[in-house]
Amino acid sequence: KNFGIKEALAELGLKKNNPGVSTGSKWYRSTGGLIESYSPADGKLIGSVHGADEKTFDKVVKQSEAAFQEWRTWPAPKRGEVVRQVGVALRKYKEPLGKLVSYEMGKSLQEGLGEVQEMIDICDFAVGLSRQLHGLTMHSERPNHRMYEQWHPIGTIGIISAFNFPVAVWSWNSMLAWVCGDVCVWKPSEKTPLCSVACQLITTRVFEKNGVPEGVSCLVNGDATIGQLMARDERIPLVSATGSTRMGKAVARTVSERLGRALLELGGNNAIIITEHANLDMAIRGALFGAVGTAGQRCTTTRRLIIHDSIFDEVKDRLKNAYAHLSIGNPLDTGNHVGPLIDKTAVKQYQDALRKVKQAGGEFVVKGGVLQGKGYESECYVKPAVAVVENEYEIVQQETFAPILYLIRYKSLAEAIQKQNGVKQGLSSSIMTTNMQEMERFLSAAGSDCGIANVNIGTSGAEIGGAFGGEKETGGGRESGSDAWKAYMRRQTNTINFGDNLPLAQGIKFDI
Ligand code: NAD
Repeated sequence: KNFGIKEALAELGLKKNNPGVSTGSKWYRSTGGLIESYSPADGKLIGSVHGADEKTFDKVVKQSEAAFQEWRTWPAPKRGEVVRQVGVALRKYKEPLGKLVSYEMGKSLQEGLGEVQEMIDICDFAVGLSRQLHGLTMHSERPNHRMYEQWHPIGTIGIISAFNFPVAVWSWNSMLAWVCGDVCVWKPSEKTPLCSVACQLITTRVFEKNGVPEGVSCLVNGDATIGQLMARDERIPLVSATGSTRMGKAVARTVSERLGRALLELGGNNAIIITEHANLDMAIRGALFGAVGTAGQRCTTTRRLIIHDSIFDEVKDRLKNAYAHLSIGNPLDTGNHVGPLIDKTAVKQYQDALRKVKQAGGEFVVKGGVLQGKGYESECYVKPAVAVVENEYEIVQQETFAPILYLIRYKSLAEAIQKQNGVKQGLSSSIMTTNMQEMERFLSAAGSDCGIANVNIGTSGAEIGGAFGGEKETGGGRESGSDAWKAYMRRQTNTINFGDNLPLAQGIKFDI
């Protein structure tokens, strides 16, 4: 079954062989090596993309700098109008782009379409924001003086993105950066290069129609070496990097060396606390989607369930039963719940993790394993697994990017919160309870230490309206909604004297 992939690729304007470096209307075929993209769904070659080399990377950044000179002078609401039209174009291409996301990354078609919807939503959010880049006014201590602050764009924003959200993360960054008056250079994951080319083609058509300067939207495909160039480049004041904690630490070191800014969105090790007062129907539903959705490859995937002793066996049995009904297979087939992992390396990491769980003394409630045979030719399909473990196991402390769910027992809420916080990552967390005290304690200053803390919903599936990100080894960055836009601007404090004298601050006298 083809699932209309050929048609989707044609509609998006993708060829078998594509240039992967662009400043907008211009595309460059540089000598940075060919990146071949194979679908984890069926193992077939989808197409290839020419990556960037150092010379073309330099050319692209120069063009982005030139574009910034003009783009920053456009009124923000006019920039917002362009972003509005990008949102309209994304609505038009939602179906083929969602399909490509599903086919190239491996998430279910529904999730692929959902990811494009997230892009549309952030466009809408950014349009409104383009009239709300507010600063504060303050009262000056000096007579006849006025003091206020304003927010200005900062220049070229480097965006490094991960494979698991191959289009949405770029849009969270770029749509906000554009209304703020910045220009963007995007280094997508080398595992999902075709998604990036499709996004650039859609955007460019809108930009051309509106006379947006060449270089406001730039694309540099390539592997980590291109990401490193970006981190080192002093012409890029902000590097927004999404990916593993290992990558984030490397980028942070390089960027801070030159006193640039890094916005980091890194790994999670997310838990749901299920208390004795939980509505178990809701808890099981939330845990199941959180653990197996996107085959466990979301930064917000539920990795740990911290379950009250009194309901531990019931939750365990109900999960076992729910897992037995999961159908694993081609993500484009809407009858399947779980798709493949991104590649065979990820499958190996999954197998290693299962081995380590066993070695540490974990007990499997639902056994994992790699699937073989018809429909699984790509060798990327695995069975979601569930194991009873201790929070302290070294393997439980790590983020394994695969559908492995750990069950941990607790007796008091304080103990549950301590276990939930007892990992190095701090992205998403939730509590399932109908008890008001439990809920408030979980949300209090002594509760969850994560950037996201939910009540009676799972750990994954954040909305764009809130600021997204996490603490500790998750990197501390915030993207998307609320006032996350401030990361893409520089704050300027202005003091204006409208009197006839020049009084000095702090009452200082300096008369000659
Ligand atoms: P990854 O770290 O392997 O790669 C991410 C990106 O960084 C890629 O574009 C890659 O080429 C680049 N890169 C790798 N090493 C680099 C280096 N030293 N310097 C510069 N660039 C470098 O991650 P992945 O496997 O693509 O994605 C999975 C990870 O991303 C998980 O840890 C997941 O939790 C995390 N993630 C986090 C969020 C979030 O918002 N917190 C969102 C999505 C994914």
